[in-house]
Amino acid sequence: MSTIEQPAAVALAALHPPRRYLFGPGPTMVHPRVYEALSKPIVGHLDPYFIEVMHDVQELLKAPYGVSQGATLVISGTGSAGMEAAVANFIDAGAKFAVFANGYFSDRLTEMAKRNGAIVVRFEKSWGETYSDDEARDFIQREKPNVVGFVHAETSTGALQPGRAICEAAHEAGALVIGDCVTSLGGLPVEFDETGIDVAYSCTQKGVSCPPGLSPMAMSQRAMEFLRARKTAPRSWYLDLKLIHDYSTVSHRYHHTAPISMFYALREALMVMAEEGLENRWERHRRCSKAFAKGIEALGLRMHVPERHRIPTLNTVCVPAGVEEGKVRKRLLDGPGIEIAGGFGPLAGKVFRIGVMGPLATEDNVQFFLSEFKKALSAEGYSV
Ligand SMILES: *Cc1c(COP(=O)(O)O)cnc(C)c1O
Repeated sequence: MSTIEQPAAVALAALHPPRRYLFGPGPTMVHPRVYEALSKPIVGHLDPYFIEVMHDVQELLKAPYGVSQGATLVISGTGSAGMEAAVANFIDAGAKFAVFANGYFSDRLTEMAKRNGAIVVRFEKSWGETYSDDEARDFIQREKPNVVGFVHAETSTGALQPGRAICEAAHEAGALVIGDCVTSLGGLPVEFDETGIDVAYSCTQKGVSCPPGLSPMAMSQRAMEFLRARKTAPRSWYLDLKLIHDYSTVSHRYHHTAPISMFYALREALMVMAEEGLENRWERHRRCSKAFAKGIEALGLRMHVPERHRIPTLNTVCVPAGVEEGKVRKRLLDGPGIEIAGGFGPLAGKVFRIGVMGPLATEDNVQFFLSEFKKALSAEGYSV
């Protein structure tokens, strides 16, 4: 008889994650109360207590999303699962999908829609640019799509795309609008109803200050009607929003085993948000974003996106000539334990992506970051 031996390292080493300052685009710092919530005893996914938790989460999501008419629900999966759910339920094979393509995440939306058999038309702009109201309207009037997609806060570029003109034109053309709100929810107003978005998805690990694992979504009445009127089931069973909506808000019949602890975490994070007050929270992020940009300019560096188009939660800073961005990042991680990200796609090597979100969004933390950033840049040959 053979025995399987445990490798010594697995048997002996306790989990010992390093302490990091997560100044990247996500995951971001987790609020201490959220860590506590994660350690509470779990109950069953059909337990009346869990149904209550799920209900609380849906209610608590309404204010940060700016939803009063529509529905909120939570997908078990990261932000990309929310994206996939939006695509799978609202963009059928043969449907025409018009996407505002100015960054990495609109490319991901494109890829998912293509895999679903949609006809995708793209309005390309270089990474970091945004669309004016007229450009948005012209594109939609010309293409007459079934569904329109845009990324509200494009984490790959740091640019914020307002959605109102997009939604107005889309609705005039009889189209639904999918809005990626992954980096906006919890850090800046989404204004779902006011903007006119039909389907929005987000995640827990960016503006919401939880670990990754869930995707909070919002759907307008128009979107709910579209779901009700569907004659065929979407190709994805797991991400079937009708089934998930039924499990989470109507019959509470088993669909999948919801990740209980993550729902506790999200509920706590949303409570922390509500206690601070949304206006206060948004103002805190705006203030920190201004202080951040001011500090960056004082170092003689440039922001990639013009001030009026910037996302307050995620900053893209141009890498100065002669400096290798990867080395600066390594120095920050090895020294003070600060994580930031680099650019990718057309912005690879050209920008640093620095998140100032959730518990990290304080003036003291911004100053702490700037002084460590300055040291790392100087060590890599940049003279301030
Ligand atoms: C992070 C991100 C996603 C994907 O979310 P995951 O949680 O990584 O799956 C989608 N869209 C945007 C804008 C993002 O920043």
